[in-house]
Amino acid sequence: MIKNLFRFIAKKTSYCFATVPFVVLSGYFAASYAFFVIYFSIDPFEPEELNAFTTTLIAMLLIVPFIHALLLGAFENLKIPALFKFARKINNFYKNLDGHNNLKDDDLLESLQLLVRFPQYHMLVAILIAITVILPSIIVEYLFSRSLYHLVITSSGGMIAGILFCYFCYVITETLTSGLRGECRQMISRQNMQNPNIYGISIREKIVFIIIIVFLSMAMLVYFLSFCNPTLISTLGFLATTFLTVIVLTSLYFRSINNAFTRILITTRELSRGGGELLYLGNNEKELIEFAENFNVSVRESIELRHNLEQKVESRTEDLVKKAAELEEANRRLKELDRLKSGFLSSVSHELRTPLTSVLGFARLIRKDFTKIFIPLAQGETKREKKAGRINENLGIIVREGERLTRLINDVLDLAKIESGRMEWRDEPFASGEAIEHAVQAVSGQFAQNPDVELSINIPEGLPLIKADRDRFMQLIINLLNNAAKFTERGNVCVDAAVRNDGWVEISVNDTGPGIPPEDIYKVFDKFHQVTRNDTLKDKPGGTGLGLAICRQIVERYKGKIWVESVFGKGSRFVFVLPPFITKNEMEV
Ligand code: ADP
Repeated sequence: MIKNLFRFIAKKTSYCFATVPFVVLSGYFAASYAFFVIYFSIDPFEPEELNAFTTTLIAMLLIVPFIHALLLGAFENLKIPALFKFARKINNFYKNLDGHNNLKDDDLLESLQLLVRFPQYHMLVAILIAITVILPSIIVEYLFSRSLYHLVITSSGGMIAGILFCYFCYVITETLTSGLRGECRQMISRQNMQNPNIYGISIREKIVFIIIIVFLSMAMLVYFLSFCNPTLISTLGFLATTFLTVIVLTSLYFRSINNAFTRILITTRELSRGGGELLYLGNNEKELIEFAENFNVSVRESIELRHNLEQKVESRTEDLVKKAAELEEANRRLKELDRLKSGFLSSVSHELRTPLTSVLGFARLIRKDFTKIFIPLAQGETKREKKAGRINENLGIIVREGERLTRLINDVLDLAKIESGRMEWRDEPFASGEAIEHAVQAVSGQFAQNPDVELSINIPEGLPLIKADRDRFMQLIINLLNNAAKFTERGNVCVDAAVRNDGWVEISVNDTGPGIPPEDIYKVFDKFHQVTRNDTLKDKPGGTGLGLAICRQIVERYKGKIWVESVFGKGSRFVFVLPPFITKNEMEV
């Protein structure tokens, strides 16, 4: 309601609302002062003088506010100009603020200056008023009493009242304009301008003032009780007024400090929650204003830092999202290519295998017939014998290479099938130990060809069942044993099996072959990867580089793991682990 009243005053006049209580106070001060003057001048206080007393009191109460209103521009609408222009300027600022009109930078700075100095202007006006009220009364006082003692006593009371009045004006004006100052500071910083370092009385000075006020009020009390011979009612009235003055003054002061701390608390809380509101204080105290300025500098810095960080995170996230999309697309294309490749490989391999089988069959047949029928014919004739030997040798190469090609095609077909998911897996539980023995038997012929290598097998009793495709399991062991036979020239090859602590079955093929260089340890399981060796294994059947890749696919299908441990030059140990097949009964146990 008070705000609306102020708004109304602001609209209708150029009279600043903040002067209203000041004016009322002035009237009150002047009236009470008049009361003192009359009370002490006309002695004793006769009832017939009551009229004069009341008239002066009312006149003071009316005249002083009227003069104020006149000085500060309440009647500008009636073409009576104000003497003090600052009230009008502040009023204009208030009006513009209310209408959200854009204030220019200079206006803003000037308004802030005025708002900061306004309480001091008022105090100045109050001092002038006090002087104009007190001085004539002192003269009147002296003319009436002709006693210096009387004059000192009465005028000292008046002085105390005057000082209280002046400070009261300061505090009230400061309190009333505090909101405007806060808004003005906010607008200044919104226009990216530096808030000027202007402020009113510092906290320290204010505390000194408060102490002075308390002392003065006490002095007033003492003065009143000792010199005014008061009645009970007037004593009570005086006490009430004095206490009210002290309470209003101190509470206004502490309210403004309290408001500042509440604002600081709210702003810091907001800041810690990620908000970025700056601190705008309506206060006029030097320490608080300087604190707010420094605080805002750090807030701006931290907002900027946060902003930069957010931008960085945003741009990095964008990059990552883009990269992820690219990777996804690349992955999709790779998968598609892989699928096409597997399809292509399996159909091409299939097409190749049929004619290759005929070529190989016929080559074997021709070689057999040639050895059986034509070589004996050539015996005795050196030239023919030599030629026949070479033809036989070439036929041998055709057969060997044909067999290698068949192996390669079979491997490629197997791998393509596994990778494209077209392999048929006939998974069933089987005794792993027995399957290992069968696989060893299958390759024993190969080992028999090399008497320098001894094949042994070391399988404990009671190996657990494994659930897998038995043929693939055997293919896995046969591949490893084939490699061992192929690469080991002397020494021994041993197949070991054991149950690990976690229940998984661990099977290893150990040999005393050339071993695998450390840099190839992880690569040997890649497709077509073959270790480059100096001693090319010329007389060994050529490999395809796919055997171990197939082994890995088989093991991984059953969630197992395969790896190789090797000391280069001393031998290798190919190991794989597979989970055991656990029957329902075992699970219950
Ligand atoms: P390959 O058909 O060439 O044997 P693999 O995939 O079975 O294809 O093996 C890949 C490569 O790993 C071989 O070329 C060989 O260099 C190396 N390798 C495999 N097993 C052994 C072994 N027991 N000793 C030494 N090297 C081996």
